[in-house]
Amino acid sequence: MTTMTAPETTPAALHSTLCLFGQGVVRGYAIGRAVVMSAAALEVAHYRIADDDTAAEKQRLCQAIDAAVHDLHQMVEALPDDAPRELGVLLSVHAMLLQDPMLVQSVCQLIEERQVNAEWALTTQGQTLAEQFTLMEDAYLRERSADVRQVIERVLRVLSGSAQWLPDLDGVDADGSLIVVARDISPADMMRLRGGKFGAFLTDLGGATSHTAIVARSMNVPAVVGMGHVRALVRDGDLLIVDGIRGLVLVNPSPAILREYQERQAAFLRERDELKALRFAPAMTLDGIQIRMEANIELPEEAADALAAGAEGIGLFRSEFLFMGRADLPGEDEQYEAYSAVVRTMAGRPVTIRTLDIGADKTLDGEATVATNPALGLRAIRYCLANPELFNTQLRALLRAAAHGPVRILVPMVSHMHEVVATRRALARAAEELRDAGLAHETRVQLGAMVEIPAMAIAIEPFAETLDFLSIGTNDLIQYVLAIDRGDTDVASLYDPMHPAVLRLIAHTINAGERVGKPVSVCGEMAGDVRVTRMLLGLGLTGFSMHPQQLLDVKKEIRRAHSNALRVKVASALNRAERIDLAALSA
Ligand code: PEP
Ligand code: MG
Repeated sequence: MTTMTAPETTPAALHSTLCLFGQGVVRGYAIGRAVVMSAAALEVAHYRIADDDTAAEKQRLCQAIDAAVHDLHQMVEALPDDAPRELGVLLSVHAMLLQDPMLVQSVCQLIEERQVNAEWALTTQGQTLAEQFTLMEDAYLRERSADVRQVIERVLRVLSGSAQWLPDLDGVDADGSLIVVARDISPADMMRLRGGKFGAFLTDLGGATSHTAIVARSMNVPAVVGMGHVRALVRDGDLLIVDGIRGLVLVNPSPAILREYQERQAAFLRERDELKALRFAPAMTLDGIQIRMEANIELPEEAADALAAGAEGIGLFRSEFLFMGRADLPGEDEQYEAYSAVVRTMAGRPVTIRTLDIGADKTLDGEATVATNPALGLRAIRYCLANPELFNTQLRALLRAAAHGPVRILVPMVSHMHEVVATRRALARAAEELRDAGLAHETRVQLGAMVEIPAMAIAIEPFAETLDFLSIGTNDLIQYVLAIDRGDTDVASLYDPMHPAVLRLIAHTINAGERVGKPVSVCGEMAGDVRVTRMLLGLGLTGFSMHPQQLLDVKKEIRRAHSNALRVKVASALNRAERIDLAALSA
């Protein structure tokens, strides 16, 4: 976290205001009084247990774990209907972690071998486990070390008999004006913090995929995480301004700053209400070009968010998230349930499900990344074709889900036509097996491919003719065109979505689709970036797929744009391979 006391704007007014920075993970502003949570980490006593007493100590541990698990299950049962969906899942994951026999066994072993008390053995084992997670390459899995720490703390609280770490706020009528300041917030604690009293969450720990971030996002409450020492620097009752857009917290601001932020907050809320009114408005440009607005999701539950944001369909369901963060592979029935849940939620709207895109930055649990350069290795469709049984299971589940509504199958990382041919063959095998087994399924599914390898974009014509639709994955397309690893911060400044070479490939793909009458959309991050919406319209794009939270902002921009005029401006810059001046497109 960075702290400063003399920010760049209005220095005189900001004179005595402490500014703290972290990672803003939920957009919005909050103004309110700090409620500083006591440190969840407990002082852990270390003492020796007599030989005869180790059995009793192990029993004490098991009872505490049972009580913590029972408590978590009860919370899941008691979740109110309006609770964020993620909470139930996260609470269950915590219960599962605690019930892992390996955890209990290893702690009991420590108690016995070292003759130490349960608290000490539990903390020691918890640290080892959390460190293992911290070393993982995948950012999501790294964040899971927080889960381990939180469940251990939960048991420690039971062992110490002091389960409560939140102040009792039952009688307080705060109406969203309290701001939680904590070291970290577990899902169970998050559940207690629901109920409209809290206007923002600030934590020392956590990143974009931490629980605080996930749950705050679903509650639509501003949050700044990874602040480092916010708990130490803020006192109970301090007046705070939280700027979730910039990841900024102002402590005890001057009246001038307070007024400024009150205005910003009011404008933000007004704009949000205006956007909501656009949910069912057509995404049509001023010159009458109809644009398809779809949503990207990673978990089946997010389909409801897509619907709520007015998405016309799911443009990208990243199925690999069903496969990650677990020791086993999801079977056909489990996948079928997940896919058909999305199809049912979308009630007749098209659902594009991408086949497993594993490899490179996403690995299955327990599988080391051994390729010399994983981004150029056995990833996505290459991995699936090399593992035909795993692919067959997924294709069978997809064809079964298609019996419930329109499913489109999207294949990632295609570069060769023979990969399309092999995928069709694999689909035919899956359909034949389902028919023989008498399982309900639908064979008339559309097949499309991600355009994310430059070779495919350059030689796009046969793919556009053969496939039913194309979806441009700009995240990877940019990395492969520019030879910039998308996850490498050292070269992040060279990761340039506006490079004329990237834009030419997007335009080339869109034009090829137009010529043969096949829909083309963009599902990479560019589609949800409102700063480039006009530029994409200028390239002739008529299909956008993005995170549900970005849909309305982009729709608003589309409704203000004149597509044909943009096409003329963009085409002339592209012909000369010049950089496109985004400001000129807004004029
Ligand atoms: C892309 O590459 O643009 C894309 C949408 O897929 P992912 O980010 O999952 O690789
Ligand atoms: Mg990709």
